[in-house]
Amino acid sequence: MKFVRYGRKGQEQPGLLDAQGRIRSLSSVVADIDASVFGPAGQRALRGIDPQMLPLVTGRPRLGVPFVGISKFIAIGLNYRDHANEAGMALPASPIVFNKWTTCISGPQDPVLRPPGAEKLDWEVELGVVIGRETRFVREANALQSVAGYCLINDVSERAYQLEQGSQWNLGKGCDTFGPIGPWLVSADEIADVQNIDLWLDVNGERMQQGNTRDMIFGVADLVAYLSRFMTLLPGDVIATGTPPGVGMGRKPPRYLQPGDVVTLGSPQLGAQRQEIRDR
Ligand code: ZN
Repeated sequence: MKFVRYGRKGQEQPGLLDAQGRIRSLSSVVADIDASVFGPAGQRALRGIDPQMLPLVTGRPRLGVPFVGISKFIAIGLNYRDHANEAGMALPASPIVFNKWTTCISGPQDPVLRPPGAEKLDWEVELGVVIGRETRFVREANALQSVAGYCLINDVSERAYQLEQGSQWNLGKGCDTFGPIGPWLVSADEIADVQNIDLWLDVNGERMQQGNTRDMIFGVADLVAYLSRFMTLLPGDVIATGTPPGVGMGRKPPRYLQPGDVVTLGSPQLGAQRQEIRDR
């Protein structure tokens, strides 16, 4: 299943994509796309529903974040060898974990706002992992059972805030609008191999990033197991799993986003996002 939420910000309605990629309303079935819907029991219940029988949503509504209930937005740094190289940093011996504040979460087509004084705004296309059940101390062999589905994420970053403001990265990762999620939450059963997902990102139509999750240093199951050693993962928690090479910081000379730039990113399995950059 591909879950969506559509409508004006704060008033999004729940939906499903049908086989033709059209949005069908789930409003008569569920109140919202929350853990009771995308968790194991909810997905089992929805399998009996034929999307073609649900009301068709007409027009081209705004898309929101495709699910609610995100208590933690965790991210992994330098998880692709070639990205670590372009960042001029050593390959990590264990996952590099940082946080994106949940107030940064934004719809997949909403504008990205450059904070006042920011000069090093950058892009990072990533696979997002959505937790489906409460999870702690899970073994790697069982870790994918905790995953409800996957989504596309732009881990928008301000490099000066990230790297020139102190001992950790969070200040450059969690500014408002720095966390576009969506357009879909793709249920895990639709992804045959999570370590074989293509990802791409363009700026103003020029290809900047092209990668595949097979090149991750720490795979999805490893990451879920690792994080569950240190925290209880809750349904709805999101893990941004790192970005392939091609970020603006790694270009020679570096290329940072300016107001008016348009970032598009996507994946054959996860859908596409589009964000215009604006000054806040
Ligand atoms: Zn990232």
